[in-house]
Amino acid sequence: MKKEIILTAAAFVSVAAVSEPSGMRPDANHAWAVHDVNRPDPVKVDVRPGKPPSDAIVLFDGTPGSVTNNWSAGGGKPTKWTVKDGEFICTPGSGSVRTKEEFGDCQLHIEWKTPVDDLYGWGNSGVILMGKYEIQILDSSAVKPSRSPWKPANYADGQAGAVYGENPPLVQPCRKPGEWQSYDIVFHPPIWDGRRLVDPGSVTVFFNGVVVQDDFPLQGHTGWCRRYPHPKESKGPLILQDHGHPVPFRNIWIRRIPSRYADTVNGGLGLKRGDVAALRHRLAGESLAFANEAKEPAERFIRLWESYCYEPDDKVMERIVKCEAECVEALRANKADFAVREKLNAFRRFVNMLVTDGWIAKDAPIKKAIDGQKAPPKPKAPNLRDL
Ligand code: MG
Repeated sequence: MKKEIILTAAAFVSVAAVSEPSGMRPDANHAWAVHDVNRPDPVKVDVRPGKPPSDAIVLFDGTPGSVTNNWSAGGGKPTKWTVKDGEFICTPGSGSVRTKEEFGDCQLHIEWKTPVDDLYGWGNSGVILMGKYEIQILDSSAVKPSRSPWKPANYADGQAGAVYGENPPLVQPCRKPGEWQSYDIVFHPPIWDGRRLVDPGSVTVFFNGVVVQDDFPLQGHTGWCRRYPHPKESKGPLILQDHGHPVPFRNIWIRRIPSRYADTVNGGLGLKRGDVAALRHRLAGESLAFANEAKEPAERFIRLWESYCYEPDDKVMERIVKCEAECVEALRANKADFAVREKLNAFRRFVNMLVTDGWIAKDAPIKKAIDGQKAPPKPKAPNLRDL
């Protein structure tokens, strides 16, 4: 009895490897079908509460070593900012700090607080992406609307969460001085094609978990009282601003992310039909290689169709027609893959998808044959007392 159960389990394992049919087919703008089982899986990232993601570059972890490794003052000199109690603190007048590495498209997490002591004013600092685009840091916890001409600072486009001088935050979730705050930022630099600006770049900012910049198209590099053009660079150092206030930082990490224009095959901004066609050609070839190795007509039929859908080819269609006849015969004889319940059902879904997508007619021989085929009964569940 034990032996029988083990064999049944092994059968399930092999069935799990059968590919499922996918949805709407590739086309000129899409290399992949919807739910395409051949599409590569995303890279795994390990994420633990309170920890940087496993693929993040940790720029400050509370230790002086992480400052030495990642940060410098202007000209590459060591910074005079200090590390105390796990905080990286601006030394007013010593100059801004910058990362030794340069970043373009990125996701940044950073925590900061403004000083409690009024002596230091509003705790001005800033996160300057690529060294050009400042997301303002300031105590904006007690901002009141005012039309007073004597209110020289804390203007809307200079508050915490603002793209400095360009766009105020959508709302103002700033906490009081002395309380930790967080920015989670997604940044894309401008894209140039020679002298033509293809895309101005954008920034999304979550401020204490609340979205305050929603994919904001950048207007140019930021600055005081002026509008500036975009830089031509596509990357630069991350700068933390010294604006004369001892603002502390902690938990700083950054992840490089792909440019939205680097993806030329997934229907995004950088879509190139030539790249889509090239990938479809490669995938068609791979599916054909699987078809050539397939021993069972059912798998061969699926692989040939897969190849044809990636890239229609008359010779492949000739093989599909022949293979269809083999499948009809095997179905009628209840042979091979068609004797396995899960495989039969997967094949049924695949054929139905071909009909739904208009690749074959409702009265095609394979459709009639599969409709006339009952699935074998489910195997009995093992009796635990026998294990
Ligand atoms: Mg500032």
